[in-house]
Amino acid sequence: MLRTLDLRNRAGGDRDYRDLLPRAEFDVDAAVEVVRPICDAVRDHGEHALREYSERFDHVVPERFRVPAEALGRALNELDPELRAAFETSITRRRTVSQAERGETSVEVELAPGAHVGQRMIPVGRVGLYVPGGLAPLASSVIMNVVPAQVAGVGSLALASPPQREFGGLPHPNILALCALLGIDEVYAVGGAQAVAMFAHGVPGLCPRVDLITGPGNIYVVAAKRLLKGLVGIDSEAGTTEIGILADDSADPVFVAADLVSQAEHDPNAAAVLVTDSEPLVAAVAAELDRQVPASKHADRIRTALTGPQSAVIMVADLEQGLDVINAYAAEHLELQVRDAAGVAGRIRNAGAIFVGSYSPVSLGDYSAGSTHVLPTGGCACHSSGLNVKSFLRAVHVIDYDADALAAIGHGVELFAEAEDLPAHAAAITARLDRVADRRGTG
Ligand code: NAD
Repeated sequence: MLRTLDLRNRAGGDRDYRDLLPRAEFDVDAAVEVVRPICDAVRDHGEHALREYSERFDHVVPERFRVPAEALGRALNELDPELRAAFETSITRRRTVSQAERGETSVEVELAPGAHVGQRMIPVGRVGLYVPGGLAPLASSVIMNVVPAQVAGVGSLALASPPQREFGGLPHPNILALCALLGIDEVYAVGGAQAVAMFAHGVPGLCPRVDLITGPGNIYVVAAKRLLKGLVGIDSEAGTTEIGILADDSADPVFVAADLVSQAEHDPNAAAVLVTDSEPLVAAVAAELDRQVPASKHADRIRTALTGPQSAVIMVADLEQGLDVINAYAAEHLELQVRDAAGVAGRIRNAGAIFVGSYSPVSLGDYSAGSTHVLPTGGCACHSSGLNVKSFLRAVHVIDYDADALAAIGHGVELFAEAEDLPAHAAAITARLDRVADRRGTG
């Protein structure tokens, strides 16, 4: 089912492999052109445009785009108690890790007497959180967005998720129940690029604009985030799911196949990539895929994902080449199903999240491991991080020098400015040095 890409005779470092690796043909740049008119229409026509795109893409127009408080309360009241317990475990674990992520909140350095530089971590003022709901209602994304934002201390949180026809134009009840459980009351039944545009531009009388948009989504959500980045902050390009598995002959083919299938289930464009030096493993995984895929509820979607150009088995000569390939791929999710997986994990430089050994599958991280599931895709893991508490904080330097501290290094600053041919910069220092000299009676 998976095509094979044989790199055993292609020696090289990780940068040499980047252009050879399987990627989707319809990429984010192409999708930006699809979403540009949607985002412009939301900016120019507000709710009118939201109605049009809800009808076109979600096949339902909500009575009100802002979800009424009663609907949130009702969803929580009607939540199955066992499912609620599972949600609470996931919340507790994500919150525990988030509190540890926050770490040192401020820094204060005295560089010389009277010369202080500090760094304050200040939460973003208002954030728009996106929760996917096209092919599957990802209630888990409520937890992954809200919990770190709350731990960071964000003051204003709004959440959007696509309206569901079968629920009368509201987002899925599990999403609403989790919002209620986490105390989020500003919830919008808006999906896709139009939700990103609503958050970025604001919609008069409905939703004030936000400073930052976070959360996962399909290629249209990611394209809208890329398009509007700058006008608004974004977390990362957390788009269509990818799984990379680095495996050797010690891997269990049942687990490897199950994990490839589990992530292919997200989206027909999801990527599943197995990197291995073991031909027997490849044969065993192929047999397992033939058994597991037809038995899966979403077999068609999974088959499309596994046979797409973005998915492959990559044959490598050995673990060393496997590491180069997997670092080049920079998978959103990277599983290590190899001997000494913990040791190998220390050699990974590019991955959204690393799942160590056979009993840390991606599905665990999707829900309840305590880690985030909002992770960079499309190779962005070589420069971006998954959503975490620091995504919601800005590091602000605070510079506090007194007159004597400035005078002590002022001449050097003047020289530096003149060397850059910026004499007005030097003059701003000179004015102060003159004042200090007057005060000291040395001018
Ligand atoms: P979604 O909510 O992301 O997207 C649904 C919306 O897409 C619709 O409301 C519609 O507005 C828009 N849309 C659909 N077709 C369109 C078209 N032709 N043109 C313009 N807009 C269109 O839900 P989904 O589709 O189920 O996708 C969820 C995605 O999130 C999956 O791709 C999954 O792999 C991904 N995901 C990523 C991460 C991560 O962190 N990287 C985590 C979880 C899920």
